[in-house]
Amino acid sequence: MINSKSSIDPNELRKLFPIFSKRSLVYLDSAATSQKPEIVINTVKNFYDEYNSNVHRSIYDISQEATEAYEIAREKIAKFLNIDKVNSIIFTKGTTESINLIAYSWVRHNLQKDDEILITEMEHHSNIVPWQLACKDIGAKLKIIPFEMDGTLSNPEKYFSKKTKLVSVTHQSNVFGTINDIDKIITLAKKYNAISVIDAAQSVPHFPVDVKALDCDFLAFSGHKMLGPTGVGVLYGKPELLEKMNPFLGGGEMIRSVKLNESTWNDIPWKFEAGTPNIAQAIGLGAAIDLLNQIGMKEIHNYEKKITDYTINSLREIDGIKIYGNAPNRGGVITFNIDNIHSHDLAQIVNNDKIAIRAGHHCAQPIMNKLNVSSTARVSFYFYNTFDEIDLLCNSLKKAIKLFQ
Ligand code: PLP
Repeated sequence: MINSKSSIDPNELRKLFPIFSKRSLVYLDSAATSQKPEIVINTVKNFYDEYNSNVHRSIYDISQEATEAYEIAREKIAKFLNIDKVNSIIFTKGTTESINLIAYSWVRHNLQKDDEILITEMEHHSNIVPWQLACKDIGAKLKIIPFEMDGTLSNPEKYFSKKTKLVSVTHQSNVFGTINDIDKIITLAKKYNAISVIDAAQSVPHFPVDVKALDCDFLAFSGHKMLGPTGVGVLYGKPELLEKMNPFLGGGEMIRSVKLNESTWNDIPWKFEAGTPNIAQAIGLGAAIDLLNQIGMKEIHNYEKKITDYTINSLREIDGIKIYGNAPNRGGVITFNIDNIHSHDLAQIVNNDKIAIRAGHHCAQPIMNKLNVSSTARVSFYFYNTFDEIDLLCNSLKKAIKLFQ
């Protein structure tokens, strides 16, 4: 049992994750995907063991149970984000699919030639490429808010204009860890009558996100980065927008009636959930949210701030290290390089000590280009990481330096 909403004890919380008892592992790549607690694994297993069936289709008992569990998961997500209208929560495959859904179902029907979509230079590829594809189809323009070398956005207000129809910004950078001032972006979007989209892939898992207070138009995130299974994510959309939007994918479930020459659409959110959804995964995400609520999102954020500060201070003591980004408001993602050692070599060497860190471009090549590097090393945290693990990391990095001397 968890000692509900007290300060975080990572050594206790680690016991909830089978992987940590099965192998020696310092896992510092939660920005890529988080580890899965037993309760989530068991919830998924229990679905297949006890009531596996399709949803929204049948009247027999197990199908009713599956439908109920699937829709309860949706309610849990709405509550977690402080959203009143449950029909504003669409299950997708993840952040990538959520953003593509907007690009296909809203942008391609509402933008015209020479309209502008505004993003930032610090986006993940999944918040760049869908807009590039849409702009190409429509003849619209993609405008970019640049970042400063400290990893903060540079004067976003300068890049809005009457032509801006949509702005899409990451809440927390997956490279710098910067928590962007999205209140300011959403306010600017309203001023210019533009739609606001928040890529919350790195924020919703790590701190409280109150969508009602933010009042953005769309918000996207992935279940697998917040203790949930892979293959399920969320798109929040304001119901009045979702109602007017065309479907994304066509098929079963998303229709009200089908004739051979025309069809009508189901109510939201199901209008956007064509075919058999990821039922077990959505129910598993519901279990993940229960656990996050029990631990407390504020507590998670506070703990991650402490371990991030400790890591930055420890890393700074290592000769030849360069940490990228230094935003005052940041989360648990730290990106760095060490002089004369390629990040892939670094990741390989620390892997010999059973430490998992990420090396590469982090699906953010425009950031790498501006930093003038081909790749970096990255460590990222969750509440199951301990300060001892950071000491192990630093010792391992020092070993790597010795090896390359
Ligand atoms: N946006 C950000 C900021 C991310 O960090 C990621 C994944 O790392 C994504 C979007 C894409 O998420 P997914 O691959 O789960 O669709």
